[in-house]
Amino acid sequence: MIDPDTNEITSHGKPLIVMKGVSKKYDTPSGTFSVLKNISLEVKCGEFVAVVGKSGSGKSTLINVITGIDSPTSGEVYAASTAIHALNQEELAIWRGQNVGVIFQFFQLLPTLTVAENVMLPMDFCHTYPARERRERAIALLEKVGISEQADKLPSDLSGGQQQRAAIARALANNPPILVADEPTGNLDSQTTDVILELFAGLAKEGKTVIMVTHERDLSRFFTRSILLSDGAILAEKPGVTTYA
Ligand code: ADP
Ligand code: MG
Repeated sequence: MIDPDTNEITSHGKPLIVMKGVSKKYDTPSGTFSVLKNISLEVKCGEFVAVVGKSGSGKSTLINVITGIDSPTSGEVYAASTAIHALNQEELAIWRGQNVGVIFQFFQLLPTLTVAENVMLPMDFCHTYPARERRERAIALLEKVGISEQADKLPSDLSGGQQQRAAIARALANNPPILVADEPTGNLDSQTTDVILELFAGLAKEGKTVIMVTHERDLSRFFTRSILLSDGAILAEKPGVTTYA
């Protein structure tokens, strides 16, 4: 985050997300199935972390536990100084609206709303900005992701890459410190993938903390760190080439 007085990044390097001994189990007809096994992890402000691993290794569950979409069976999750595991559904919804921007593989823009209206929606839900400021803010965010000229079109008029940029603008609507993306480039070609990754890297440089699930070709040049999951456990951690701290 930028200090408005000094214009310096103040919070880089502090742990923003802390997971302690997090496990997630499901009871299935054939017995208990452990999706996450005793995961402990810290993610600092301004990191751009990749979560990689085979399909079924627990990547989506890991990030869903951070956003509170899934609750851990045991263990603790702290994000932006809040004990996520201790919140009830209502508290979680409020917390998530203000602290996390979520980006999906298939964009999930509402098809009957314009691009700008999609970006305004989280502001409408959370009342984070006065009604008269929301459109202006949406246009500024679309400008930031490079598609302000598409503001009044419907999502179906945009390319996949443009739709994902719109989804990133929407994720930024309430200026959350954390961005979480589950295979955001899984549906995009490699050139567009690089554009989206550059965008995330730029946001991390500005102080956003970005956690991204991917199982794509080597994208490690973009990340501060990669975490390899295997059967619900962290098998390896690799520092990325980039350090923003
Ligand atoms: P990934 O994103 O790495 O593909 P997931 O986190 O989606 O992995 O899932 C990890 C494992 O947990 C998978 O084997 C999946 O079948 C299982 N799983 C996910 N949700 C449930 C559930 N509600 N009940 C039982 N098993 C589940
Ligand atoms: Mg997944």
